[in-house]
Amino acid sequence: MSSINIKQFQKRLQTWYQKNHRKLPWRSNPSLYKTVVSEFMLQQTQVDTMLPYFSKWLQSFPDFKTLASSSEEEVLKHWEGLGYYSRARNLHKLAKEFVTRPTLPTSVADWLEFPGVGPYTAAAITSIALDQPEAVVDGNVIRILARLTATTQEFKDNNTAMKYFTPFAYKILNNENPNSHNQAMMELGATICTKANPRCDSCPVSQFCEAKAQGIAISIPKLFRKKTVNLTLNRLYIVHKNFLLLSKTASNSKRLANMYELPKADDLVKNIHEHVLIVSKKRSITHHRIQENIYSLSAKPDRSFLNKIKASRGLTWIHLTEINSVTLSGPHRRWVTELSEKLS
Ligand code: SF4
Repeated sequence: MSSINIKQFQKRLQTWYQKNHRKLPWRSNPSLYKTVVSEFMLQQTQVDTMLPYFSKWLQSFPDFKTLASSSEEEVLKHWEGLGYYSRARNLHKLAKEFVTRPTLPTSVADWLEFPGVGPYTAAAITSIALDQPEAVVDGNVIRILARLTATTQEFKDNNTAMKYFTPFAYKILNNENPNSHNQAMMELGATICTKANPRCDSCPVSQFCEAKAQGIAISIPKLFRKKTVNLTLNRLYIVHKNFLLLSKTASNSKRLANMYELPKADDLVKNIHEHVLIVSKKRSITHHRIQENIYSLSAKPDRSFLNKIKASRGLTWIHLTEINSVTLSGPHRRWVTELSEKLS
């Protein structure tokens, strides 16, 4: 890979970071706990989206001990709307395990033992909160490293690219100040060396950048894109005597355990009740493009329908005044709010 003057690179990066970094709550009065929470929330979520969640979380769960002693229901409720709920569950489990440890886990190997902690998160926690000389390689850092070295090969996914660039990340790591170095790299990727619009003219390390020199920054890194998959889901919105019908996801479900959703319509209404489409919603999850058609019944539910619901596992009626106390995944919360206002 490219040979750059590492000392100069580190110095220019650091000077830029000290002057320009965003003031974020986990950077003022930093702590191990704040670093862990911020790293979990930032997996898959943009800073601006997670900031209000972070401050609310810190108010309710100020440390590992409080989090460990809280119920999963409370934890999920605080995560509602952030998505990827396994992060909340893993963070909760991590806190429970952390408080039982007789000594402070300090190494990457120690942190890899915790649920939800992969190589990236372990390196981030140990370098940022514990000053260990570990290089953090996330999507932002991969982009910078690929551009610095003008690497045009295509990677099958982020993990493959991460493995490829990790040795180079260690090569340019500032071992005397890994905390600040890693944060500076991530900040550079988030604010200057962005995916669609790299601002090379404002970049503190542009003199070391091969992609800029060759005019190919925008096309790098090359990550293989999975083919888009289109899906259609049919759901029900049924209110009966001020109770809304919801389904509760099984506790062993990988993604949405113990969360509530508008129930899937297919089996339930087929051949039983006339139903009418009230709204269609579109959303994307990774490479899936999902159309969710939400139906209501055209007449009041009859006895056989109510009996069928009673016998169905996972279906439950929640009084409209109690809706805010259950945890709905983000889109379902929006749909329920919108439909209850529209149809009331
Ligand atoms: Fe990224 Fe441009 Fe800086 Fe290179 S010069 S690291 S492409 S912002």
